[in-house]
Amino acid sequence: MFENSTRTELSSLGEFGLIEHLTKDNETKHGSTLKSIGDDAAVIKFENNEETLVSSDMLIEGVHFDLTYVPLKHLGFKAVTVNVSDIYAMNGTPKQILMNLAISSRFSLEAIEEFYSGVYAACKFYNVDLIGGDTTSSLSGLAISVTVIGSANKEEIVYRNGAQEKNLLVVTGDLGGAYMGLQILEREKSVYQADPNMQPDLEGHDYILERQLKPIARKDIKELLKKCKVRPTAMIDISDGLASEVIHLCRQSKLGIQIFEEKIPLDPQTIDGAKEMGLDPSVVALNGGEDYELLMAIDINDYEKLKDHLHFSIIGHFTAESAGYNMVSKTGTLVPITAQGWDALLKR
Ligand code: ADP
Ligand code: MG
Repeated sequence: MFENSTRTELSSLGEFGLIEHLTKDNETKHGSTLKSIGDDAAVIKFENNEETLVSSDMLIEGVHFDLTYVPLKHLGFKAVTVNVSDIYAMNGTPKQILMNLAISSRFSLEAIEEFYSGVYAACKFYNVDLIGGDTTSSLSGLAISVTVIGSANKEEIVYRNGAQEKNLLVVTGDLGGAYMGLQILEREKSVYQADPNMQPDLEGHDYILERQLKPIARKDIKELLKKCKVRPTAMIDISDGLASEVIHLCRQSKLGIQIFEEKIPLDPQTIDGAKEMGLDPSVVALNGGEDYELLMAIDINDYEKLKDHLHFSIIGHFTAESAGYNMVSKTGTLVPITAQGWDALLKR
């Protein structure tokens, strides 16, 4: 994927030269960023009534991404997305990120520049400052670890453990698209590997491919909830699939759940893609991952406020813990939900 371009070896710049080159135009936007890149540590300071939220996520080549079909610019954007998503899941606002990279000699300066163009695009899109990181070499492949720092007023923060019995289960956007996008990319990769003269057939799958290659974290939800005057009692982002995330909410809140299959929001392209590949779209939504939508519990009295909202779907309700985790299928039978998840540790 790096062919047809000039190739500058990273070794020709050295570590300091590389960092300087990549960060020379970096600008900070937040007053809370007192000192950015350039010293031994960055310095940040939030207003007195704001709590600090911190989270990290790693992306490892061969485990979380495959550079045969993931453009480096998209990867840079996604590395930021998966991290800021965790801050949105706390009902917070991301403010700063640190970018830690281990890079093998396979990567040229031009490749890393591509990656950073995605990182900077995401910093702009999510309004976060890049305030530092670490750069080192790797013996094989690319490893990315991002730390995100955010803030929220104490009373705004939403934990996983606050759901109450009879609360409604609400999800943003639609589910399963990212997983179906991955299946299409994997299929076309095998076709290409079998016969390099074959052109990939990605027609009609643009939405689900975008969901996989360029997921967008729900930076809009905090504001939308405020506007609707709804404060979730518990919240989590969907990185591993609906089933495993809802079980996290249940375990931490010591509750059971009943989900209605027919209420699970699916995009038509997800349904078509699943059918094309002989998969059940509901299973894809339950067990596919990387949608980066938000899953939350709300008080039953807030039902009217969200029931016809474009961005929210009410898909179930919390029960006593003893009732367990169940889904009412389209045919009316009760199916137990298990936390299969999309687990990077088990999958490959
Ligand atoms: P130290 O040796 O003290 O760890 P470094 O030479 O690693 O410092 O880093 C110098 C500065 O560049 C620091 O501010 C650090 O946070 C920043 N930095 C290092 N790597 C990256 C990176 N990949 N992206 C952004 N900033 C980085
Ligand atoms: Mg360092």
